[in-house]
Amino acid sequence: DKFKSGLEKTRESVVGKMNELVYRYRKVDEEFFEELEEILISADVGVHTVMNLIDELKDEVRLRNIKDTSDIQPVISEKLAELLEKEDDDPSLQFSDNGLTVILVVGVNGVGKTTTIGKLSNHLKKQGKSVLLAAGDTFRAGAIDQLEVWGERVGVDVIKQQEGSDPAAVVFDAVQAAKSRAVDVLICDTAGRLQNKVNLMNELAKVKRVIEREVPGAPHEVLLVLDATTGQNALSQAKTFGQSTDVSGIVLTKLDGTAKGGIVIAIRNELDIPVKFVGLGEQVDDLQPFDANQFVYGLFK
Ligand code: GDP
Repeated sequence: DKFKSGLEKTRESVVGKMNELVYRYRKVDEEFFEELEEILISADVGVHTVMNLIDELKDEVRLRNIKDTSDIQPVISEKLAELLEKEDDDPSLQFSDNGLTVILVVGVNGVGKTTTIGKLSNHLKKQGKSVLLAAGDTFRAGAIDQLEVWGERVGVDVIKQQEGSDPAAVVFDAVQAAKSRAVDVLICDTAGRLQNKVNLMNELAKVKRVIEREVPGAPHEVLLVLDATTGQNALSQAKTFGQSTDVSGIVLTKLDGTAKGGIVIAIRNELDIPVKFVGLGEQVDDLQPFDANQFVYGLFK
């Protein structure tokens, strides 16, 4: 149901256009596929991915001897679900099996990083885990306060220093606090100023080294937060972060705010990183573990 309401805008746009197409063509032919291609591209599925998808659809239509456009939608759903579900994908979060789990959260300012950390804390608490937050974005004015507001809202403590202090030092402190309080999960916020890419990537690398040194096997997750409303831009951000950090999972936010929810498919298909969560609203419960079938269902039903 969450997927259903969160994907409303995408559904209205994509499915509305597809229905219109099916009605107008009735018979499957080359022009039908061309228009279908345009619809999928306009939903940000990504040119490369759409080309593959259309090729596979054509094969399937031939194989199953489909003639009427009205019979094609289940095939589209099937193919989309296949694209989203890679065999070795594990959309669940990885945890330490013998102590502290550390999750590093990265992403460009404004994508919804702080909100995601708040929602994720709530999600983990509901699973019975204790959570601590590290205010590792010491650069952006207000970032520390904003994280504290979320901390209060969901009932988790925030380890912080002053604005402008060394993020690696904040994270070091937070790891020590997490160990001495025996919390289950430490979530580390980081800066997201992409204007100075080299410095930012160096800073993230340093934070990561501290985590690796202080907690064997950590970080257990490096989650990259991307904003679905930025469409193909989100893909290029993923590539930038992917070059300097080993991203283990993607959180795609603001899917509720866009008609271009197809970006999930592009991200999944063009990057080799699983989408672990999607953001479907601004409230604390609006974070959903990603599920390919539910996603496709939410898109078409
Ligand atoms: P940060 O700069 O990356 O930490 O971004 P914030 O967490 O401050 O989020 C930026 C804005 O996006 C805020 O107004 C959030 O409420 C909003 N936001 C975050 N996630 C979602 C989401 O999944 N859906 C919607 N509609 N808004 C979101």
